[in-house]
Amino acid sequence: MRLILLGPPGAGKGTQAQRLVEKHGIPQLSTGDMLRAAVKAGTEVGKRAKAIMDAGGLVSDEIVNQIVSDRVGEPDAARGFILDGFPRTVPQAEALTRILAGKGQELDAVIELKVDENALLKRMEKRVADTKAAGGQVRADDNPESFKKRLDEYREKTAPLSKYYAGTGQLKTVDGMADMDTVTAEIEKLVAAAVNA
Ligand code: AMP
Repeated sequence: MRLILLGPPGAGKGTQAQRLVEKHGIPQLSTGDMLRAAVKAGTEVGKRAKAIMDAGGLVSDEIVNQIVSDRVGEPDAARGFILDGFPRTVPQAEALTRILAGKGQELDAVIELKVDENALLKRMEKRVADTKAAGGQVRADDNPESFKKRLDEYREKTAPLSKYYAGTGQLKTVDGMADMDTVTAEIEKLVAAAVNA
């Protein structure tokens, strides 16, 4: 099963992706996690990405396309994967189609979590509070200024993907304002339908 989770920052993509990982035994491919790992490791990519990420901007398509192309070729992704945070632009979506076509693969579904934008800042603040309470490290871009920029980037560059995937007939939507378990159940229904289609 090859799946994309779409939605603005704070929509719950990461949480839902984790649940899909547990249920289906396929990896979550989060470009944000991969970039944060590159920053931490101090790689060339990490050095190029750090300032952009901290400010809430988007890293270049060239960098993330290469990361994803390499990652989907790894053995654990052979049975499928859940893409979380990629694609974020229409050119990335086009690149993904090419990457998968090169392997004779295609997507099974694109699931968009629809959320009320007014709730997102509060969700980010809760994530920060929960992380701090658990003694964890708060993300450098989880602050009001960078978050606003992330939302602006989403509206301008990522939201057009809904139309793009509606055009390919792959887009499904879920009410991301429902409680977490309901969202999970809705996603599972869509996944089952897509896999049996
Ligand atoms: P995320 O963990 O998905 O919220 O991503 C954190 C940050 O990593 C984003 O704000 C971007 O700076 C960068 N990033 C992650 N995925 C992408 C992508 N597909 N395209 C460009 N930048 C990305």
